Formats: sequence, structure tokens, C-alpha cells
Amino acid sequence: MAKKGHHHDHDYFHIVMVPFMAQGHLIPFLELATKIQQQTTSSSSSSFKITIASTPLNIQHLIKHYHNHNNNHNNHNNIHFAELPFNPAQHGLPQNGENTANLRSVDENLKLIQASLSFEDPLSSLISKIKEEEGNPPLCIISDLFFGWANNVAKRFGTKNITFTTCGAYGTLAYMSVWSNFPHRNCSDSDEFSVLGFPENYKFQRSHMYRYLREVDASNDLARFLVSQLSLSMESDGWICNTVEEVETLGLDLLRKYIHLPIWSLGPLRPLPLKGKETSMASEECIEWLNLKDQRSVLYISFGSQNTISAFQMMALAEGLEKSETSFIWVIRPPLGFDINGEFNADEWLPKGFEERMKSTQKGLLVHQWGPQMKILSHKSIAAFLSHCGWNSVLESLSCGVPIIGWPLAAEQAYNAKMLEEELGVGVILTATVESVVSNEEVKIVIDMVMHQERGKGMIMKEKAKEIEVVMREATMEKGKVKGSSINAMDDFVRFILPTKTM
Ligand code: UDP
Repeated sequence: MAKKGHHHDHDYFHIVMVPFMAQGHLIPFLELATKIQQQTTSSSSSSFKITIASTPLNIQHLIKHYHNHNNNHNNHNNIHFAELPFNPAQHGLPQNGENTANLRSVDENLKLIQASLSFEDPLSSLISKIKEEEGNPPLCIISDLFFGWANNVAKRFGTKNITFTTCGAYGTLAYMSVWSNFPHRNCSDSDEFSVLGFPENYKFQRSHMYRYLREVDASNDLARFLVSQLSLSMESDGWICNTVEEVETLGLDLLRKYIHLPIWSLGPLRPLPLKGKETSMASEECIEWLNLKDQRSVLYISFGSQNTISAFQMMALAEGLEKSETSFIWVIRPPLGFDINGEFNADEWLPKGFEERMKSTQKGLLVHQWGPQMKILSHKSIAAFLSHCGWNSVLESLSCGVPIIGWPLAAEQAYNAKMLEEELGVGVILTATVESVVSNEEVKIVIDMVMHQERGKGMIMKEKAKEIEVVMREATMEKGKVKGSSINAMDDFVRFILPTKTM
């Protein structure tokens, strides 16, 4: 059976992608699409048309992002976007509640993730339409880890389904296993517990888990959603992971044993650089400020696209920074309990005169709301990253050779932070969760260790981060006949999804 679609005089194989509606999922899916296109075009093997399907607001967001990041000479890209009809109000969500960025509570996040089940019919219609137009269903569907239901659609049309987990292998496994088994609820009064899928003697800490996860059990609605969707995702034909084989040896080994499916490590999928004219004022200000600083002397601080710390923690962090006299760039938003996109009330949330003092001494730059993270991390003045350990931030930091001070808050961030500290030796956990009571002295001690120590753990973290930067770069490079692991994995993935030739 021929599976190629036809577009003008050009033959291609069609892939349909369905990402979860959060920045940290949408962008890696777009990067995955771009990477599939780039590698298959440059190796002049088969060519692919890729359609990314999501709700109207997310599609608008993706198109804008795509155009801002693509140079004109990239016009060989055959990436398309399809809208899946979605009415947020029908699911009890606010009018713009199509993306986690616009949600205000755990309850709304739960509603959005449950509402994704309603995409099954629109996705089926999209696949039908493609089948009608091209004579065949798409070669495969690549669906988010949370969208196990996509397997039902794929089966109906006799096509493959591939699950894409936008997290690392270690974090994905720990997240899946914890939400399926709740091991932290059976460890009596000890803080330590083991997780199915990890060696028995390998211990996780309950105190590093955020309160919601610590308090719920298997009867919780999110737990029930995750258990059903994750087990459906385990029926996929294979998984793609945004990681690098050599960086996540343990995590990949354990995840493969847990899901019994092929896993292709195609990372690091990093944000494409912005086109010159799209750079913002904030971006120029940050770079000019960093240009005046010594090499490897500045700490970068950010808690990702949707998290913030408590008002109490914000005060401790500011005081600790001032005590340690470290230079820093801090992407700052209102603390927990306030509108994260609202006005910043410095008088209330920061030490008196903090922002002015940091400005006049040129010790610190506060960037409100959103910073150009990749530009900052790749600047030679950056020495370390104080991060919530969202997986994209982790990959971006390591691919720039920057060690990480972990302050995990939600999702699988605590497992990422643990992996960075214990497996890779490129991280140290300062504190965990938004509920923790951290003192300015604790902040100062950890920052001093990483920023100012000439020997010991802080120094080793920096060296290891540099080594990982090289490993990551080589994974995506081709030197003569030697291909990096992520390139090989892509070749292998493409061979896997292509129909076997019949004579
Ligand atoms: N990001 C950014 N500027 C900011 C905050 C975040 O560019 O001020 C980007 C960051 O580079 C990363 C993504 O947003 O690519 C955040 O993803 P991550 O997985 O680290 O965390 P999440 O936001 O999903 O919690």
C-alpha cells in the first residue's frame, strides 16, 4: 500500500502532531517538527509534511512563534497548522482558558487536561479529511504523553501512534510511577520512599514533593485521568523523548524497562533563535547589562513560564542574594496568591529599596514578567542558573554548560533536580516546593558555594556542566561518517515509521 500524499508535483509522508496546551509542550512539539524536517531534508531521504493540531488560540500562538523564529531561507519547511474546535466555557474554563498560561488554579488545570478528551472526535475528522485528500491516512500521529486517547484514533485509521514526552526520561518515569502508585503515601513517618521502576535502594524524598501531590491519593480526579491516559500511551508503537542518550543513561534504561517500547532520544530540542528584528527591549537591556560583567560571574534566576515562589520565599531570596553580593539577573513575577501577570508591588514583596540599590551598585537586574532565557544562558557572563528545573530550562542550561541551583516547585521538577544533583553532578537543590520555609542564610550558603567556591562541589558542578555541554553538542553533530546519537536516533525513528517496502 502506497502511503504517500501528493502536494503539487511533490510526494511526501504526512505526520500529524497533537501537543498538550502548555508552552513547555507546544514549543518542543514545534521544534520536533522542525527537526524532523531539517534532518530528512538535508539527508535527502523521504520528505515529510507535518500538521500540528491544537485549539484556535494555541494555533495562533504557534504560528506567531513559528514566523518569529524562521528565516526566509528556511522556506523548505513543510509545517502546517490545524485548528481543533474548542469552547472553553463548555468545560467550565475562562474564555481564554485554552492554555495553562491563562489558568488560575489547580482546579482549572484539571479541567483543561480533562477537556483534552474532547479532541478525539475533531482529531478523527482531521485524519478522515487527510485520508480523503491524500488517499491514505497520515503515516503516524505523534501525541503528547497526556493524550493516550490518540491511540484510539490511530487504531481506528490503521496508522501508527508515537508518544512524545516533552520531559526527560528519568523525570517522566518518576512522574508516571508516582501518580500511578502513590508510593509516598505508604512510607509511614519516614521522609524517604522508593519508586516502582527505580532500584529498590534508590530513595526519593516526600518533603521535596509539592503539597497537592503529597495530599491526594488514587481516587483524585487528576490521578484517575493520568492513570488512564498514561496506560493508553503505553500502547503506542514507540516513544520520543526530548533528551540525549549519553546524558540520561540511567533514566532511559529504566524507562525502557518500564514501558517495554522503543524510545528515541532526539534532544536537545531547543527553542530556535529569534530573528534579529524580533529582539525586544528587554532582550537588548539584558545583553548590554551582561556585556559589562566579567566572564562567568552572573547568576540567572527564573522559575519558568507558569510558576512563582511565595512572598516569604521571595524576600528570603532577595536578602540572600544581597548578603552573598552575587551579581544576578532575576526574571521576577508577583508571588503566589497574586495575579502572576499583574502589577509588581516591590514595596511589599522585596526588601526596602532593593531594586534601586541593585541598580545603583549594578549588582542585579530585575526583569519583570519575561526574559530572553536562551540569550541570557548562552552569554559568557553567566555562571549558574537558579531554576525551578522545568525540563526545557534544564536542557537549555546544560546545552550552554551552565550548572543549576534547583528550586523545584511542581510537576516532575523535583525529580529533574534530584537527577541533576545525584546522577549528573551538575546541580544542587537549594529548597523544594512553594511551601518550604527557606532562610536568607540558606540562600546565601548555596549561592556562595556555586558562585564563589574555587574548589569542592561548586567547582565540580561547573566542570561537569561543561562536559555535558560538549556531549550534548556532539549528539546533534555529524563528523564525517560519525553521527551523533540524536541524529542516529532520528534516522532510526524515520526508518521505523516508514512503511516497509513491498516488491
Ligand atoms: N522562558 C523564557 N523566558 C522566561 C521564562 C521562560 O524564555 O522568562 C522559556 C524557557 O526558555 C523555556 C520555557 O520558557 O524554554 C519554560 O519551559 P520549562 O520546561 O523550563 O518550564 P515551564 O514553564 O514549562 O514550567
